[in-house]
Amino acid sequence: MLKIIDKIQKEHVFENLDVTDKESLFQALSAKISAASSQDATAISDALHKREDEYTTNIGNGVAVPHGRIKGYGRTDIFVAFLNAAINYDSDSDEHTPVKIIFAILSDEDDPKDYLLNLSQLFFLVNQKDILDKIMHSTTYVQLEEALKNVKAMDEKYEVEKQIKFLIELERADIQIRAYELYSATHSKQKSDAVLDEYKKYKETLSAKIDMNVLETYTRIKNSKGDALSKITDCKCSACNVAIPKMTVNEVRRQNQIILCFHCGKILFATD
Ligand SMILES: [Zn+2]
Repeated sequence: MLKIIDKIQKEHVFENLDVTDKESLFQALSAKISAASSQDATAISDALHKREDEYTTNIGNGVAVPHGRIKGYGRTDIFVAFLNAAINYDSDSDEHTPVKIIFAILSDEDDPKDYLLNLSQLFFLVNQKDILDKIMHSTTYVQLEEALKNVKAMDEKYEVEKQIKFLIELERADIQIRAYELYSATHSKQKSDAVLDEYKKYKETLSAKIDMNVLETYTRIKNSKGDALSKITDCKCSACNVAIPKMTVNEVRRQNQIILCFHCGKILFATD
């Protein structure tokens, strides 16, 4: 089970935050975290800004994951903030989605491993659509706790469905890595191995959840064809445009097994 779920404490969840932009958010957030953790608010704000200046922590879908490392912090904490209204989080980035919920991580400067692990678990959590839907409808700690309880129950079910989701996430992670590399090519001064480490750790977290045979199939297809997944749209394989027999479409929807397109050999998935 995801360790992170048990890490979110009531006093680390801030409801009804009234902020208008990233700067006022960071100020309000630092003050709240300071009160909850007895850390200096300026040190918190500086740590969050330091990481944010390297690359945005807006991860899309209305979620931002600002994080920072503080010398002598001695642990890793997660803080959640529900904003009263979505804010424009970025002006200079390729991720323009307004942000409504904040998952902030603070950890010890000398323990990057713990921090990356927590971060990649967060990435994973908010990139699962059904989980995210429940989280996005929460505005209080009680609702969030309920949403996360459902996640625990869900975690045991839908084996193949989960495998496909992990594979989709793997491809998304690769896209995020490419986007960051593109960004750092034009903002060379800001290139940071820490950001790439975050994404790589996330990919490791995902890979560890995928069945070895499935991962092997995925890697083999990806290496030979570039992309390994293909969505079924209007009963056609979106990668090669060949019509998929109705029976196969139903099999894919049923999600009892991994099914490849008979024509292009990519892993088929359906989202409806
Ligand atoms: Zn195909």
